[in-house]
Amino acid sequence: MDLATAPPAPLTRRHLHVAGDWVDPSSGDTIPVENPATGETIGEVPAGAPADVDRAVAAARAAFPGWAATDPAERAAHLDRLHTALAARADDIARTVASELGAPLKLATRVQAGLPLIVLRSMVELAARPAAERVVGNSLVVREPVGVVGAITPWNYPLHQVVAKLAPALAAGCTVVLKPSELTPLTAYLLFDAVTEAGLPPGVVNLVPGTGPVVGEALAAHPDVDLVSFTGSTATGRRIAHLAADRIARVALELGGKSANVILADADLPTAVKVGVGNVLVNSGQTCTAWTRMLVHRDRYDEALELAATAVAGYRLGDPFDPATRLGPLVSAAQADRVRGHVDRALADGARLVAGGPAAPLPPRGHFVAPTVLADVHPDSALAQEEVFGPVLAVIPFTDTDEAVAIANNSRYGLAGAVWSADEDAALAVARRLRTGQVDVNGGAFNPLAPFGGYRQSGLGRELGTYGVEEFTEVKAIQR
Ligand code: NAD
Repeated sequence: MDLATAPPAPLTRRHLHVAGDWVDPSSGDTIPVENPATGETIGEVPAGAPADVDRAVAAARAAFPGWAATDPAERAAHLDRLHTALAARADDIARTVASELGAPLKLATRVQAGLPLIVLRSMVELAARPAAERVVGNSLVVREPVGVVGAITPWNYPLHQVVAKLAPALAAGCTVVLKPSELTPLTAYLLFDAVTEAGLPPGVVNLVPGTGPVVGEALAAHPDVDLVSFTGSTATGRRIAHLAADRIARVALELGGKSANVILADADLPTAVKVGVGNVLVNSGQTCTAWTRMLVHRDRYDEALELAATAVAGYRLGDPFDPATRLGPLVSAAQADRVRGHVDRALADGARLVAGGPAAPLPPRGHFVAPTVLADVHPDSALAQEEVFGPVLAVIPFTDTDEAVAIANNSRYGLAGAVWSADEDAALAVARRLRTGQVDVNGGAFNPLAPFGGYRQSGLGRELGTYGVEEFTEVKAIQR
């Protein structure tokens, strides 16, 4: 079957997944799902209500004691079956993400469908290990599952964000109620098809689609949810933290970013700029870790701008299902308008247009924004401070390493970053000074076992690997 022309999986879904069954929602209200490359409505899902959240949380609560007491090897076997069932749907997942998010099919296949499988595989292995216990003096310190988890996820990597919560929560012995983004709810349905096929015990995972203000708030405020694990904007994370604070419930927050790519004078500039541009443009710039501020030594600044313009010219916008397409649309008209507004404001603030911009040609329909490079961006300006979440790179010059570090750390965010230098020790020294949760040195590869999360307003807690599993545990000391 030709992947590019194959029809995607069902795009209209009518049910919630509660206590191991596909069940009717409490109301007939629905949410349309749009294809952002065309602007057409391609399907719909139920608009869940607080009564649906109550039902799903009750199912997760009822399932918790049994799942928490399940032998780790058996929990790992369940996750292994889920991995098999999800892997069998990889093509459908890729085509569905291409349809509801507009991600080019190649990226959708490699990252949007591929990454969750890598993360889930890592969690099969971690789930099989009993939680580590420590003896501290006369105390035995043990880790226990935190309880019922409310998981609320964004649209940008719709399946990865879900699996990065659901798999470690299950590995730790927690049960879960998931609310996926209302903009991209269809991939979560494919995951729950896999959950059904894998035969997970009823109530261990539950799905309630719906809007943030209705289903998200009901889940975050629910008295029987022990931990709210959220990925999304800093503004929503703040709201969720307030809701959870009322009952002193735990939160794990993966929020926004404005990450710096620090290119020292002795760096391999063509590689650093090419990889840096690719990092900003992947998924049309809708990536929380995107290195959206490129900091370049003044001696190499003009050369870097030329390289960046050349790199951007190689990104063809268009139909996500066309193999030649490297950049799809943004997820929605509102998101595209927001991104254009950031570019207009940056130009008004004195930034210099190097590539793209308001006059660049675009496909005739869909929510496209041209990949854009802006130079001479002031480190305090809105473009250098605010998360754009679109294909927009701000380039900023620096004169010495101290200034580069100061500019990089001049942010309310602290999610990711990069450093490039021919001297790896020098790069490592800068990496240590960056106030962020992740730093890649000379293009260091993504590690699915490394802790992932942010400093400052980029969030609280860590996902992935053992750190990600521990996020879903409580610590108990038993004195003898
Ligand atoms: P968003 O905050 O608008 O929505 C995220 C989720 O929260 C959605 O499911 C939404 O329905 C829900 N929500 C919205 N309002 C809510 C409320 N009042 N109560 C409860 N839930 C509510 O974010 P988005 O636009 O979907 O995603 C983009 C943002 O996510 C960006 O800021 C990006 O940086 C961030 N993000 C962070 C990471 C990370 O790991 N740090 C990863 C991906 C995206």
